[in-house]
Amino acid sequence: MLTKKQLVSDILASGVIPGSALALHSSMKAVGLVDGGPDTLIEAFLEVLGRDGTLMVPTFTYGVKHQGRPFDPETSESVTGLLTEVFRKRPDAIRSIAPVHSVAAIGRLALELTRDHLYSTTLGRYSPYHRLAEAGGSIMLLGCDHNSNSIIHVAESLAEIPYIYTPTPGAPDGFHEIRQKDGRVKKIQLTEFTGCSKAFFRAEPVLRKAGAIRDGQIGDAKTQLMKGDELLKIMTPVLNSDPGLLLCPKPTCSYCRPREKTLNPDK
Ligand SMILES: [Zn+2]
Repeated sequence: MLTKKQLVSDILASGVIPGSALALHSSMKAVGLVDGGPDTLIEAFLEVLGRDGTLMVPTFTYGVKHQGRPFDPETSESVTGLLTEVFRKRPDAIRSIAPVHSVAAIGRLALELTRDHLYSTTLGRYSPYHRLAEAGGSIMLLGCDHNSNSIIHVAESLAEIPYIYTPTPGAPDGFHEIRQKDGRVKKIQLTEFTGCSKAFFRAEPVLRKAGAIRDGQIGDAKTQLMKGDELLKIMTPVLNSDPGLLLCPKPTCSYCRPREKTLNPDK
């Protein structure tokens, strides 16, 4: 059974810097049994980051088709892991308003990272992950791999790969719904779309070769820590020269196959 004290010591040893902004992608199952559950792990991260630090997690919902109802920042469940669902319900957490890829943050930059998400891209330019990188923040993969590393979508957006404008199968017209505080439902239309991330594992050797990944361990889980701005600086030109790199090979993938066509319109 892992205690908060052990977790704090592991988090520090894994390279997390007090006072920094950190985006965390996590698998609680990989960490092992924690005394007090996800809240203890969250509190251990917050203790290391300190008063000047910020912790951000994905609280994605994947839109109305996935959830069966309009996005409501108060009640829509996060489908990106147990820790994120517990995190968004904490009284000090601020959740961004975005119908597909909302995030939640606690700490000094929480408001700055989560504001106006509806008016930026969902996971691209000026989105919370882009802002975190611009603010000098880092990304940690805790017990998961680069297929969960959402900031790589920001690199797709910065590289302006033509496929970012290909609507996703869940909302082919780009429309999503949000329940407002007064109960009314607002329809919004996205202009940039986030595709499949099943081939994001291909980013790992590129980042490793550039020395951008610091390995560590928290509990039983392996960790990879990287600076957001460094990742974008490495991945954006790589995607410019090889725009198909992150499309998965599955012949029936309803995200990647139409996207492939935008790269080779004559095929
Ligand atoms: Zn795919």
